[in-house]
Amino acid sequence: MTSEPTASASAAPKVSFVSLGCPKALVDSERIITRLRAEGYQLSKSHAGADLVIVNTCGFLDSAKAESLEAIGTAMGENGRVIVTGCMGAEPEQIREAFPGVLAITGPQAYESVMGAVHEAAPPAHDPFLDLVPEQGVKLTPRHYAYLKISEGCNNRCTFCIIPKLRGDLVSRPAGDVLREAERLVKAGVKELLVISQDTSAYGVDLKYAESPWRDRSVRARFFDLSRELGSFGAWVRLHYVYPYPHVDEVIGLMAEGLVLPYLDIPFQHASPQVLKAMRRPAHQEKTLERINKWRGICPDLGVRSTFIVGFPGETDEDFELLLQWLEEAKLERVGCFKFEPVRGAAANALGLPEVPDAVKQSRYKRFMEKQQAISARILKGRVGKRLKVIIDEAGPSVAKGRSQWDAPEIDGNVYVASRRPLRVGDIVTVKIERADAYDLHGVAV
Ligand code: SF4
Repeated sequence: MTSEPTASASAAPKVSFVSLGCPKALVDSERIITRLRAEGYQLSKSHAGADLVIVNTCGFLDSAKAESLEAIGTAMGENGRVIVTGCMGAEPEQIREAFPGVLAITGPQAYESVMGAVHEAAPPAHDPFLDLVPEQGVKLTPRHYAYLKISEGCNNRCTFCIIPKLRGDLVSRPAGDVLREAERLVKAGVKELLVISQDTSAYGVDLKYAESPWRDRSVRARFFDLSRELGSFGAWVRLHYVYPYPHVDEVIGLMAEGLVLPYLDIPFQHASPQVLKAMRRPAHQEKTLERINKWRGICPDLGVRSTFIVGFPGETDEDFELLLQWLEEAKLERVGCFKFEPVRGAAANALGLPEVPDAVKQSRYKRFMEKQQAISARILKGRVGKRLKVIIDEAGPSVAKGRSQWDAPEIDGNVYVASRRPLRVGDIVTVKIERADAYDLHGVAV
């Protein structure tokens, strides 16, 4: 039963919330907001008039740090009572230096400390409106898809990355816990679960794959076991941040069975063994092309998305040509590319390898993108005439916007769907593809 707001609700402190960064940070934001709402706080749409502002920051790249500092500055200017949390909170000096008046700074995942700081700055209203919290918690993502974080931290030590420094070693959630959250989400109307963590394929290593209770049985904290159980809820299940370890092979079988979407997000980052070694990438010795081909043998529908870095210190012309060649052979469905940025505190800066000049980085980036655009256009053209399942993200009077099973929200392409009957957000419809461009598909609902 839902309580009706009473007079005390209007006395509830108002909090304005800024969420920056990656999907993982978004999940943290959702958790904090859920707690705030559970304790009776109101959310304010603007900083002015709020009792305080929480800024959930990202500190992954220097550009993200600059954006975080700017958001803190705006909150200080418009409100003045600011709590900072998230990745940048792990380095409080920088924030204190720029904004000595900030009320509190906590690191990523420090829900208790954030709530402690909130209680101190704006004590909760007397009557907590627990029942006002929707069943699935407060979600910043649209209602039909949700991110499901299965672990935090990372045991790898890639030299360009400071996430292990910020978030620590891998800590997996017990399988039963993850499954209960997933079940709640699906019951609340979520149609697509996006499984995230820093290294999804390493799930459960820290727990020694321990079993935990789920319904009337136990489930092991293993990537395969968890994926299979998640697939049983009937929602789309999409796996992000997987590494090409041999044990991933068995999960491809679940894709072939239709339990999990035939989509793998694997951040390869490079193809040259020398660069991968300098990056200290997990599974850098694996023969990844062979592995991808093997997976395609098990599940011919498999779509792989990946990201790459060009201009890593010491990357030679030969390394880069090898990367282009690899890309041509791998024929990945979706690819993103970044120019290397030396993140403060990253081991890559102390490797003693020669920096790649900015102009070279830029020209490699351009060549890389052109190459991938042509590959992507070819793959999409091959889908013309096919009937695909599409999940609708945005309804429209005559054309709706959706995604195929090979497109994750916000990072991949779209499918534009013409339809005579009205399509609602979250509908999964069959679409006959009529046209393709470099990144998107266009078709008609059948
Ligand atoms: S796998 Fe590498 S890049 Fe990813 S979080 Fe861990 S250390 Fe960073």
